[in-house]
Amino acid sequence: MRATFPRMGTSWVAFKTLIENLGVEVVLPEPANRELVKFGVKHSPEFVCFPFKPTLGELKSALDKGADTIIMAIDCGPCRFGFYASVQERILRDAGYDKFRLIPLDQADLLNFQWVQTLFKISGKSSFSLYPKFVKSVLYFLKKAKYLEDIQTAEGIFRAYERNQGDTTKIVNSLLHKLDETNTNKGLREFRSVIKNDFEHLDIDKTRKPLKVGLAGEIYISLEPYVNLDIRRKLGEMGVEIYQCLSLWDWIAHKFHLNYHRKWLEHLAKPYMPMDIGGECVWVIGQYIDNAKAGFDGFVHSYPFTCMPEVTARTIITNKLKGIYDLPIIYFSFDEQSGIEGFRTRLEAFVDLMRGRRTKKKNETIKSSIHSNNNYGSHFYQECLKLVQQS
Ligand code: SF4
Repeated sequence: MRATFPRMGTSWVAFKTLIENLGVEVVLPEPANRELVKFGVKHSPEFVCFPFKPTLGELKSALDKGADTIIMAIDCGPCRFGFYASVQERILRDAGYDKFRLIPLDQADLLNFQWVQTLFKISGKSSFSLYPKFVKSVLYFLKKAKYLEDIQTAEGIFRAYERNQGDTTKIVNSLLHKLDETNTNKGLREFRSVIKNDFEHLDIDKTRKPLKVGLAGEIYISLEPYVNLDIRRKLGEMGVEIYQCLSLWDWIAHKFHLNYHRKWLEHLAKPYMPMDIGGECVWVIGQYIDNAKAGFDGFVHSYPFTCMPEVTARTIITNKLKGIYDLPIIYFSFDEQSGIEGFRTRLEAFVDLMRGRRTKKKNETIKSSIHSNNNYGSHFYQECLKLVQQS
């Protein structure tokens, strides 16, 4: 068996470990690119939400490279993600790829443990001898997902302080490579020190006081740099520090009902959105309120064109929350037509606006500030802030 799955930004590192440790060969799709998106656009229903199209292209590229099994997450709604796998399978067969099988991986509620059966199905065996491999593959997957989040957290902070543009990107790429290659208990136990050590050696200017921006939105768009026009890097290179809690790990912990940070965001969002309507709607609203209360300088909301849940979040923020919390926000709706120049201009204007606002507020009393808030964000987020100060 030669298995594949959509990359979703850097998440492929964790998925690859999960599958390989079951004894199955992995064929990685090409990273999302213009050609793959073109294939997706050509073969997809016109008004399907945008992530459907690049992921379809990615799956096609993996089939071209010899994959014979597609592993695709499925859900029971509430948004269109519920039908991605079945429609993509049909489209690929109609396009002439008929020698593959698609194994759906149900992620609706990971506590019902249906994914265990799916992993056995992927491995092609179900004997007791597989259990040690199975446990190892799940543990390594979880560890790598967490480290991917840590790399993302450190990247969001350090890039705003780097003296030589591009250094942070080099460190991130090298860490991703190292994490992919690390497949021992000891190596994985110590990997957080590797992340910290690599970032400690970055040449930074710690006297800077970068703008702090919360980044949130639909998960695929938020994690896949090709489709979000590399918004994290662009903002960082404009001297903006990024706080992004959305990651593969964040999602998995939520699906195991262990994500207390998400529960906090749900609590904040409840008066405006009392239920999960799909996508990240509830948590985007919660994060907007949370970031505003923490004294952030701005908020960026990215979502795919025609994504109903995210458009709902946008409407609630614009019509209700903006008036209450007064946190500047910019929205980016991404699709195959998104162009870099207009995007960059809007981003630069937003950064100028935040700078002007900060200058204006200098002599006013700021309600709270994350500069002085030692409890904001995850433990690792706080550690990274300390590393910057100690450098
Ligand atoms: S969250 Fe939005 S983009 Fe993602 S599958 Fe649902 S409707 Fe589509």
